[in-house]
Amino acid sequence: MMNKTNQEYDLICVGGGIMSATLALILKLTDPDMKIIIFERLGRVAEESTKAWNNAGTGHSAFCELNYTPQDKNGNVDISKAIEIFQQFERSKQFWSYLVDQKLIKDPKAFIRSIPHHAWVRGEKNVEFLKNRYEAMTSEFMFEDMKYSEDHERLKQWFPLIMRNRKPDEKMAATRMELGTGVNFESLTEQYLKVLEDHFDVPVLRNREVLDIDPEGPEDWSAKVENRVTGEISYYDAEHIFIGAGGGALPLLQKVEIPEKDGYGGFPVSGQWLFCKNRELIEQHHAKVYSKAGVDAPPMSVPHLDARFINGKKELLFGPFAGFSTKFLKEGSNLDLPRSLNFDNLPSMWGVFWHNLPLTTYLIDQVRKDHKDRIEDLKLFINDARPEDWELKIAGQRVQIIKRDKEQGGVLEFGTDVVHSKDGKITALLGASPGASTAVHIMLEVLRIAFPEKIQSQDYKNKLEKMIPFWDTDARTDVQKFKKVQARVSKNLKLDVLH
Ligand SMILES: Cc1cc2nc3c(=O)[nH]c(=O)nc-3n(C[C@H](O)[C@H](O)[C@H](O)COP(=O)(O)OP(=O)(O)OC[C@H]3O[C@@H](n4cnc5c(N)ncnc54)[C@H](O)[C@@H]3O)c2cc1C
Repeated sequence: MMNKTNQEYDLICVGGGIMSATLALILKLTDPDMKIIIFERLGRVAEESTKAWNNAGTGHSAFCELNYTPQDKNGNVDISKAIEIFQQFERSKQFWSYLVDQKLIKDPKAFIRSIPHHAWVRGEKNVEFLKNRYEAMTSEFMFEDMKYSEDHERLKQWFPLIMRNRKPDEKMAATRMELGTGVNFESLTEQYLKVLEDHFDVPVLRNREVLDIDPEGPEDWSAKVENRVTGEISYYDAEHIFIGAGGGALPLLQKVEIPEKDGYGGFPVSGQWLFCKNRELIEQHHAKVYSKAGVDAPPMSVPHLDARFINGKKELLFGPFAGFSTKFLKEGSNLDLPRSLNFDNLPSMWGVFWHNLPLTTYLIDQVRKDHKDRIEDLKLFINDARPEDWELKIAGQRVQIIKRDKEQGGVLEFGTDVVHSKDGKITALLGASPGASTAVHIMLEVLRIAFPEKIQSQDYKNKLEKMIPFWDTDARTDVQKFKKVQARVSKNLKLDVLH
């Protein structure tokens, strides 16, 4: 049965993950008259990458992630990316604090908790790098509270589980940031969507898959939507469409008749964790400890041992390990990757394959690992780890962006890209990193592209500033104000840090 709805929307959001939910909520809070509708193909929202068990739940502030601070040949550490990531996450925190102020979110502990972030390395050369990184970072006010130590006794206080049975002469070092956080993005997204449904009458239609998007007259777009329970097809018109479909964004974008989509491809990499079943061990670790990725390993494979709070319960996870599946979504189809290949993106895909052979070797090596091999990797962190205390859990799918490149045919990117039509009426988010932590920052970018007339108005800018004080401002331009805002945010979000 086919159905043409009479309703016309200002915005259709495809996908019920953190990205669509963030965009819709920012828009409704600043312009309650906007007509927005959200479609989610699964029976529940936040079940793909945004689901708590499907991601690492790190509030990415660049405190512990060594891949954001590369070192050049002379030993100089470049911290510019770290400064960027830090500020992006602070914008998310400012937005969440506003929601608490407005009593739209009642219990911040349900989605965010303080958890110290550590970078930890072993061996002479790595220790030297970490020290240089620490010195470079603490020269910036946002990282000035970072602590550094090579002393085993101090490290034992920070992460006793990792320091068990260590030889006293083993060379190692770590940094610690108390301001680190763990985030349950699933719980947060559910709360966003509840606010949208209950306070702003935004329909969030589950079991609805957007199959295609076509132009509707000169101004609008029409989304073809399938009810996955009844098989019914309906058409919904809107002036703007945001494709926030996670791994489902690329295949849908490929159906939209805009030239900007040409040349894009996707390469799926799935994640896996070891999760701890032994409560005694779980209670001994209270930190996120990130180390260095192996040679040729992609940046998202940095190994870390994380204490997490998932649905009110403390958990302990180690990983991620990379897996390979041709699906673009965890609940997707094995045909996703082959179906995404076309005349336009084949040269990019081939270029990427050819120029990334070490990555292919790394993935093959990862996929071959069995439980014993994974426990061997874990032993670098917990040297007496026992296989029976740990079990494998499959995490979310990440679809890495493949883009055209004049020299190499195609390049593989590990960041995110907002692909959009010239007039900004179609926007799509591709890629997955640094991800959910920076959703507010990324959705502000979508807002700039899709609704430039809003962003240009002073009245609208004032509204954004009330919600997210540093939405458009570098924290370094007004350090005193930033620190005041940050202290208030920590208090509102019940973070256990002193300012
Ligand atoms: C292993 C792993 C670890 C990660 N760790 C972190 C971390 O520590 N910190 C961090 O900040 N980020 C992390 N990320 C990234 C983060 O999870 C993602 O960036 C974020 O969840 C993406 O949100 P989204 O809304 O774009 O996508 P999703 O959460 O995947 O949501 C997209 C939704 O769209 C739906 N959908 C798809 N196609 C259609 C369609 N055609 N019609 C209707 N609905 C559709 C899907 O069912 C899904 O619910 C991690 C990701 C992975 C995989």
